[in-house]
Amino acid sequence: MSPKIKMLRKIEDEVLHLTASPLYAERVRNGAQPVIGEGSLDAHIMFVGEAPGKNEAMTGRPFCGMSGKVLDQLLAHINLSRDSVYVTNIVKDRPTDNRDPKPAEIELYGPFLDRQIDIIQPRVIATLGRFSVEYVMNRLGLGESIEAISNMHGRVFKVKAGFGSVTIVPLYHPAVAVYNRKNLPELKKDFEVLKKFL
Ligand code: URA
Repeated sequence: MSPKIKMLRKIEDEVLHLTASPLYAERVRNGAQPVIGEGSLDAHIMFVGEAPGKNEAMTGRPFCGMSGKVLDQLLAHINLSRDSVYVTNIVKDRPTDNRDPKPAEIELYGPFLDRQIDIIQPRVIATLGRFSVEYVMNRLGLGESIEAISNMHGRVFKVKAGFGSVTIVPLYHPAVAVYNRKNLPELKKDFEVLKKFL
């Protein structure tokens, strides 16, 4: 087993038994699964969403519901396959009724994302939505550059991580095009920014 797989399996195991999480009991009650992440372990681009929805918690796979369909369309728009990137979330269990993740949940699950970033060592972290951009920028020392997602989407922020240079590209969450299809062209345009890193 490769060291990367071994380290990711350890994360999976820890999250599976995370009884300290306020979301743990409900996951077990619903027969649901934590959603750790999937894709290439050597991906240059890592996408970070917020938290799993219902479909994701039932299957254990990130972005496999309606938002995932939009994500697939956006990836196809820039000729990027899902297999070539790594897709994960900050919070690994589904918040009740798809509400926004709470600060305490982000604090509890965030360190697992930090470890995933250190394992995958992506050149680009594309954040999906305001929760993930705030978490990732704070974590990588760019807290002072945080603005409203409406001001940051499609821009590029460079930073040094422990393993090398990383570019953060804040993107709107794909759900904005689920709620209103008219938002899709703007999301596509933002995704085009990623092309220069392929
Ligand atoms: N929304 C997210 O933020 N992540 C998923 O995995 C699915 C929907």
